Amino acid sequence: MPIVDYNMDNAGKCQCAKCPVQADSACAQEKIQKMMQMKEQMQSMDGGGMPEPRMMPGLYCAEAVGKASCDDLDFAQGCICDTCLVHQEHNLKSYRYCREGSAEQNG
Ligand code: SF4
Repeated sequence: MPIVDYNMDNAGKCQCAKCPVQADSACAQEKIQKMMQMKEQMQSMDGGGMPEPRMMPGLYCAEAVGKASCDDLDFAQGCICDTCLVHQEHNLKSYRYCREGSAEQNG
């Protein structure tokens, strides 16, 4: 099974923040806002760290994150995992990691 590292490179390529599944999730949107603020602060400090995995509103395919902790995602919406470079670069075969868990578990 593929292993996706929880790192800045993959986080930068992740498309989850744009995904319709999370678009109306108050929980995910709050995390996305916090992450954006954190990113700006880090850039101005010239630093580069990752948020705690439980605060990450994406990169669900990474084992450190896995299934989304937010319970208000709308799985009736279309998944965009296949538009993601992380998906392509790791030759992932599955989708909806936010619901199903990491690539290490689901391929
Ligand atoms: S894991 Fe896939 S379905 Fe879930 S939010 Fe990310 S892109 Fe959308």
